[in-house]
Formats: sequence, C-alpha cells, structure tokens
Amino acid sequence: MDKKLIQELKNNLEKEKDKLEKILGSFAQKDEKVPGDWDTKFPSMGQGSEGVDLEREADEVEKYSTLLPIEHSLEKRLKNVDLALENIKKGKYGICEKCKKPISIQRLKVSPEARICLKCKN
Ligand SMILES: [Zn+2]
Repeated sequence: MDKKLIQELKNNLEKEKDKLEKILGSFAQKDEKVPGDWDTKFPSMGQGSEGVDLEREADEVEKYSTLLPIEHSLEKRLKNVDLALENIKKGKYGICEKCKKPISIQRLKVSPEARICLKCKN
C-alpha cells in the first residue's frame, strides 16, 4: 500500500482514537488495570442516610443502563482503532482477517478501522 495513503489513514485513526477517548471520558473511567477497558461511572448512590431522593436515584440508574451499551460499542470501536494502528506499525495493515486478502482502499477510507473486507462482511 502507498506510504502516503497509510499516513493519511493513520492520521484518521489517531483522530478517531482521540475523539472516542474524549466521548468515553465524558461518562466513563479508564480502567487502569485492564488496558483498553472503560467503566461507565456508576452514579453515586444517596450520600449519607439523610435526604435520599429515590426518584433522582431511579433516574440515575436509568441513565447508567442507557450509557452501558453505548460505552461497550465505543469501547469496541476504540479497540479496533488501536488494533489498526498496531497493524500499521507491524506492516500488516489493510489485510482482511477472514480471507487474508487486501481490503479495498475505498473501504479503508470510509472506515480505516475495518478488520474484514466487504465480501466477508456481507
Ligand atoms: Zn475478506
């Protein structure tokens, strides 16, 4: 693959990584023990015994359950982005994981973190 193109895709991947980490960081915490793992911040439950607002807590729990699947999908995308960056370093970038054929440049331009080619995806 063209070096210039790889550089361009690498830039896109790094921007994507930045963006994903920012979004994740707004509601989740990086798990320091597990690289690449994020945990949605669980809302702090009623502080102290006084003034526990059950309604507010129910809202918070609901928010948590809404955020969890979002967190998982962002985390997955971030992992794919990391993997793609890793593959660029190893010179193995742009090869379909299933059929081991090169992934089309058009596809990589749209989703540089793609791990399989369109044929295998469909
Ligand atoms: Zn394939």
